[in-house]
Amino acid sequence: MGYEVKLVNKLLAIFLLFFSCPTLAAEIDFRLHIHVQYQQEMDSWKVRYELPVAVEHLAFDRQSNFDRSKLYKIDRSKFKWGKAGDVLLIQSVDGSKFQSLDLTFGSFYDDIQKDYTHNLKFSDGSVLLYTNHLALGANIIADKSISPIGQSFRGTQFHFYSPKQNITFLGNNFKEKALWNAKGEGTYIYFGNITPIETDNMIAIVDPTLPKWAWKNTQEYFPKLFEYYERKTSQPLSFKPIVFFNYDQIDADYSNYSGGTLDGVVQLTINGSRWKTEDKNQFNKLFHFLAHEAAHFWNGQMFSFEEQMHSWMHEGGADTFANFAMQEFGFIDSKQMMQKFEAAANNCVLKKGQQALDKSSELRRYRNYYTCGATMALASHFAIQSKDASKSVFDLWKNIFKANQQDNTYNQQDYFKELTQLTGSNTLANSLDKFSKQTIVDNQLIVASWFAQTELGITLSTDYPQSMVRHWGKQVIYELMQMHCKRVSFNSYADYVSTYPIKACGAFEHSMEVQFIDGLPLFGEGIDAYNSFRTKCENNGTVFLQDREKENIAEIQCMREVS
Ligand SMILES: [Zn+2]
Repeated sequence: MGYEVKLVNKLLAIFLLFFSCPTLAAEIDFRLHIHVQYQQEMDSWKVRYELPVAVEHLAFDRQSNFDRSKLYKIDRSKFKWGKAGDVLLIQSVDGSKFQSLDLTFGSFYDDIQKDYTHNLKFSDGSVLLYTNHLALGANIIADKSISPIGQSFRGTQFHFYSPKQNITFLGNNFKEKALWNAKGEGTYIYFGNITPIETDNMIAIVDPTLPKWAWKNTQEYFPKLFEYYERKTSQPLSFKPIVFFNYDQIDADYSNYSGGTLDGVVQLTINGSRWKTEDKNQFNKLFHFLAHEAAHFWNGQMFSFEEQMHSWMHEGGADTFANFAMQEFGFIDSKQMMQKFEAAANNCVLKKGQQALDKSSELRRYRNYYTCGATMALASHFAIQSKDASKSVFDLWKNIFKANQQDNTYNQQDYFKELTQLTGSNTLANSLDKFSKQTIVDNQLIVASWFAQTELGITLSTDYPQSMVRHWGKQVIYELMQMHCKRVSFNSYADYVSTYPIKACGAFEHSMEVQFIDGLPLFGEGIDAYNSFRTKCENNGTVFLQDREKENIAEIQCMREVS
């Protein structure tokens, strides 16, 4: 197989710029009990907190980026909102201690910045609730003589109720009521009557109005994905993951997706009417997202990594699992798969900088873990294959998992040890180790060396890969939307970008089809287009967006310098 990974050579310089009391335990239940009742007709929630001891105030566990005092309704004749520093409190009006508290709120579906959405809705009216916005946390008064709970409760137990509905979470399905002992970052709880799709290795709640083609693909490929990972790693899942897949904003004229993961949970949302038309590329993106997140069930949950600074293993590994899965299922062919790795390798070389890869989290360059990690995984794959063509990078993970059955954790040394074992040499392992922990003056040289002994051809090229040219073209629109609207909404086609109307954002209030920027084709000459944009931004210049005929369709000012 004569694949080529092109590494960008001469133009590198330009790109670097962008870039407890045990005896009492038996007698007193020191847990916090949270009773949550869903009121379907009103789409609202009643919550009752039962505390193990009377307290003067309570505080929430999670900071959460929304205003609880606006959403949660408390009985104002008895309770009031208070603050201690940054921490929001609920206190009694007369200062007396209390041992229980009731609150109510209507389902809250807005996106919450950098946090889990409070509620999500399915098109049949059923809902998800994220548990941990409701969790109470460490009592902020540490002095036990003042606050008898001290630092925190001895665990939290959630009690869920919803008449005539199923309550489904973490691989289990209950009728009308359920109990959950809160763990970790919390979970999503489903209240509704959609019949779960259950297979041996997963359970999924899928929106009934999901467009047929997307539904069909989901039903067919989601279970296959889990089987594939199990087979390739010889590591069956130790839990039954649950996938929540809803379809929202069905009439809006666009298509996008969002989602998140929690232990044993993948939550996916697709938005917009454009999902109704079959769109392979759009589904591929969604599938890649799912496949990446699902890979973390193996390399992050069943087996956890020891060091955050070595995240290249699990992030690059997850991208690699996802790329191979997409090829396995025919969503992309082998050439397209190599293009994904090629893009990762170029981004790694161009954006990592000279600092050691393990400094990336400190430097807030998390993307390096994905891009360099995927490149390191691909190099591992080819080195393993040169030794034994029947083996793959999955065998490396299989061996890491096997070697760490005792404590279910792994580290970088485990990776290098198994790589050395499978390749019969420590050459690549040593080089990856160096790349991870040392300053590298020439990223390109070292990356190219990983592939030198493999069947993969590496050419150094001054041609930017198509994906990168397009990327920078799109970046112009992205930056302008961010500046003016603080949000981004567009779709890209073969040679133009179609923007969707953004309400109350003058510059992008109407939809547009943009093909040229200041006379330069957005996709044909994306890098030049971005550079000219960047220069304009230095003086707050005006950018002309143009249509197919190069007619100006918008004049938009650049409001700040861009990288
Ligand atoms: Zn990830």
